[in-house]
Amino acid sequence: MATDFVARGQDLELVGIRKEFPGFTAIENLDLKIPAGEFFALLGPSGCGKTTTLRIVAGLEEPTSGRVLIGGKDVTATKPHERPVNTVFQNYALFPHMTILENVAFGLRQRKVAEPLKKATESLALVELEHLAQRKPQQLSGGQQQRVALARALVNRPALLLLDEPLGALDLKLRRQMQVELKAIQMEVGLTFLHVTHDQEEAMDMADTVAVMNRGQIEQMGAPEALYDRPKTAFVARFLGQSNIFVGEVVEENSNTISISCNGQRIAAPKARSEKHSGKVALGVRPEKATFHEEKPDLNSDHNLVGPGEIIDIRFTGVSNQYLIDVPGFGDITVFAQNVGKSPVVELGAHVWVSWKVEHAFGLSDLPLKAD
Ligand code: ATP
Repeated sequence: MATDFVARGQDLELVGIRKEFPGFTAIENLDLKIPAGEFFALLGPSGCGKTTTLRIVAGLEEPTSGRVLIGGKDVTATKPHERPVNTVFQNYALFPHMTILENVAFGLRQRKVAEPLKKATESLALVELEHLAQRKPQQLSGGQQQRVALARALVNRPALLLLDEPLGALDLKLRRQMQVELKAIQMEVGLTFLHVTHDQEEAMDMADTVAVMNRGQIEQMGAPEALYDRPKTAFVARFLGQSNIFVGEVVEENSNTISISCNGQRIAAPKARSEKHSGKVALGVRPEKATFHEEKPDLNSDHNLVGPGEIIDIRFTGVSNQYLIDVPGFGDITVFAQNVGKSPVVELGAHVWVSWKVEHAFGLSDLPLKAD
């Protein structure tokens, strides 16, 4: 890749952002800080306010209240083209009658920047498309066109690159390949990337920090592993992969751990918050963290153990077998077991016990809603 591409990432800070559309609040009290050079993903379902947030950062939408700071400078009232920001959209319209090189140089020419072709060539080298500079967009694949759109956004040396579902139009294989390339480019140029997606795998794969957004608010923000292993809300637990969530009355609570009782079965998990809980509380565990046993195992208090239950469904997914176990009174538990090349070790209808380490469970600060 090119080494003479010089750009400098800057940090982004959103302070108390609120956005109201007539009769609808799209964003409520959003605070977030992205350090310079970080790959940050805003992840959430359709309609949660991701694009509106991005448009506010770009200056295309005015916040009802709150401030946008880039590199410490308040740009809330600054016009879009005067912000050190560029955006790559899902629909990256390239001019069909222009060559790739001209497409990338176009904005530079418009603004009468010196040496537009040299700069456009450097930018194309960064996305490894120098050799196709003289082609027209329709002579490129979808992934290559997407890289041209990226080169076009990077050619202005923005401090902050905004990406709005940039890989959404690509098929799954190309999408995964572009994720790797996009991350590599971001690391090489050291720019701050704010990437919007509803694809949890994409966000977790690429980002240093992920913010999970729901109904105009950030529910949780952190490193991908931390969010996956320690989701704080039922929405985050369910949005990032599969979860077993159990609700019960609190029977014991100390500074780090909470235990609940669900119809006589007692389970424990690290707490989601330091304050004391009352009433019903939800705890969860990822299906791959749980194991089942054909005989009741002798485990110490570091483990949760529930059962016996009946295996009511077995699914083969390639990498793992997924077992659905019905524990009467307690509920259904999904357990993923690595497929080691043999047929399932247990059959449908078998009676088993399910265990998981307390440290692999997570306490939630809310109760699951049906809609989550
Ligand atoms: P998607 O992934 O589908 O693009 P999103 O998370 O990016 O969704 P936004 O586009 O930010 O969501 O929209 C957030 C909410 O604000 C939606 O309910 C949307 O209908 C609403 N909204 C967006 N723009 C306007 C507008 N100009 N007028 C009224 N409502 C709007």
